[in-house]
Amino acid sequence: MGNDVVSFRRDDGIALIRIDHPPVNAFSHQVWQGIAWAIEQAGGDSSIHAVLVSAPGAHFSAGADLAELERAAAQGETPGPDLHALLGRIEDCGKPVVCAIRGACLGEGLELALAAHYRIAAPGARLGLPQVRLGLIPAAGGTQRLPRLIGVEAALELCWRGEPVDAETALRLGLIDAVLPGESAAEALAWLRGLLARGAGTRRTRDRVIAPFDPAVFEAARGAAERAMRGQAAPLKAIDAVEAATRLTFEEGLRLEAELARACLASGQSRALIYAFRSERAARKIPGLAGDALWREIRRAAVVGAGTMGGGIAMAFANAGIPVVIRDASSEALERGMATIRNNYSISVRRGRLSSLEAEKRLALIQPRTDYSGFEEAGIIVEAVFEDLELKKKVFAELDEAARPGAILASNTSSLDIDQMAAVTRRPDRVLGLHFFNPAHVMRLVEIVRGAATAPETLAVAVALARRLGKVAVVVGNCLGFVGNRMFEQYRREAQLLVEEGAWPREVDEALRDFGMAMGPLATGDLVGLDVAYRIRKLFEARMPPGARRPLIEDRLYAMGRLGQKTGAGWYRYSPARVAEDDPEVERLIEEIRREAGLSLRPFTPQEIVERTVFALVNEGARILEEGIALRASDIDVVWLNGFGFPAWRGGPLWYASSLGLPYVIERIAEFERTVGPHWAPAPLLGKLARQGRTLIDWQR
Ligand code: NAD
Repeated sequence: MGNDVVSFRRDDGIALIRIDHPPVNAFSHQVWQGIAWAIEQAGGDSSIHAVLVSAPGAHFSAGADLAELERAAAQGETPGPDLHALLGRIEDCGKPVVCAIRGACLGEGLELALAAHYRIAAPGARLGLPQVRLGLIPAAGGTQRLPRLIGVEAALELCWRGEPVDAETALRLGLIDAVLPGESAAEALAWLRGLLARGAGTRRTRDRVIAPFDPAVFEAARGAAERAMRGQAAPLKAIDAVEAATRLTFEEGLRLEAELARACLASGQSRALIYAFRSERAARKIPGLAGDALWREIRRAAVVGAGTMGGGIAMAFANAGIPVVIRDASSEALERGMATIRNNYSISVRRGRLSSLEAEKRLALIQPRTDYSGFEEAGIIVEAVFEDLELKKKVFAELDEAARPGAILASNTSSLDIDQMAAVTRRPDRVLGLHFFNPAHVMRLVEIVRGAATAPETLAVAVALARRLGKVAVVVGNCLGFVGNRMFEQYRREAQLLVEEGAWPREVDEALRDFGMAMGPLATGDLVGLDVAYRIRKLFEARMPPGARRPLIEDRLYAMGRLGQKTGAGWYRYSPARVAEDDPEVERLIEEIRREAGLSLRPFTPQEIVERTVFALVNEGARILEEGIALRASDIDVVWLNGFGFPAWRGGPLWYASSLGLPYVIERIAEFERTVGPHWAPAPLLGKLARQGRTLIDWQR
């Protein structure tokens, strides 16, 4: 009995309610309706003494149904069943209700479990309330029941950080009653029968008295949330809701929770975050490739070049449990590279992020080489030697000899032409770019660069591999700077031009920090190195029409040896603790250049600064879409959220532009074209979409 996703069965006096909604038991309206119906059956049946709610699949529940949430966010309301009332009925059920949890028990899944009278979990279970990650707060009583069950401090952490805990931690916190080692349904049933045999009855979470706590925890949590999730409304609302549980009745608390949840839905942040979440998944889909049929697992890997990037890439493989050989040209460079890798692992151990045993294990997976021995066993080889096309071609020719047939050859180049590397091999269909970001073992983004001859299967293997490495992969076309750096160049150029026109470096950086960027564009230049920025800028400038406006200040900073943090000075002066301070020398230089350039100076508002820089991203992003360098607008946003510190709650530059409305964006861009220079000519796609009343986001090739 039941509906398609929830079944109900009697087993010797116990009602077995099973939720079976693959793949992850998302709690859709249909699931909730099924649960409501099943609970009613159990309650009204006098032969039933207790209820066991479980899920036959790998997960108890990954939380609410995302498509339904997205619709609700778009409409700014929460339709569907009244979960407060439904969970109240479960809690009021006169027979003990037990949730048996395995796998993920997140969001609404955990909120259901909190309304049950008992919770048991398998060892691999993960329990949490990650709604804040989607710009929402728990809205099914989670913020009111959790502090009553596990105390205010632990409840706050779970609600505002959205980080799940494992079964052991859940047991320690009092979130669950037992961890059952065997994971079997029979075991859960036996546990429940034991409970009944001991005469245990129902117990309502909402009747519990909140344990004493330090009232300072709320301010501490607000401070931590503002730092860790800057600009986001939901974490603060989640804290407000938990605080409400400490001063209001349960019913009043639920009403406030509902009100706060509605405010989150209406804010636009949740729409952006849900979009960002779905965009990461969409990025994995490669048009023209049928399913996973041709998927091959990478069991071993190899890396050439043990410098900054090669070392990080080798660590990324080892961290995923993939054995990797790493080669450098000289034993000195190799030893330097291995020393950095060892040092990175020991830092992780010191900071408590890794056990020393685990660090040893990972280190043992990285085998240094000065020749190509072991390369024949690799399913993929990543080249990360100096950024020099002739050198890379030589290395690719060698790799073609050293690699086994069918192995993939990848380059980590940031700017060079993948097709020229492919052309020196006999396997151009197996060649692509794998553009990791620095530090490669930390940064989530990988651009997968598709060459003219790259086979779809090769892309599919790379996408799956990136996922295994814990990365977010985006397939991009082969052009200067690919997607990320190509857009970054336009963005940073405007930041520099703004300074020439009258804004101070700190004003530019602060405006973009306040907008939500992880760092301002000029400070980022100092971090990356103004020598690196110089080399890349020259590549782009070589392609600009003669007479196009070129920024002046960074060239001079570079010539002065002010290369950024590494030399203690760039746009800013750096203290030994790497704090950026304004530098009068730079101010003098800026004034000198402004005089030389003869530009009329004026002050800029933060909004103008944001529009000049972020709309530069939008305009270039539109060109990238038009040229087919990116498959979808959301892919471009994924690049910016994961590789360049764009605030996720703004969705990404293209989502942001779409949410402002294209007509406004075009109007501003047209004005910049008049007042700043012809490089601001609007991308034709923008006008085309605006005329059709469409946005960048719903554009498809
Ligand atoms: P790096 O100078 O730190 O390392 C390059 C290493 O390659 C050196 O250890 C060098 O000894 C070695 N090498 C040179 N020729 C070799 C050969 N023939 N065989 C084996 N090893 C050889 O450079 P990096 O910063 O790690 O950059 C490597 C690549 O990654 C470049 O293509 C660069 O554009 C790209 N990249 C760099 C970054 C970054 O932020 N550093 C980010 C993304 C991509």
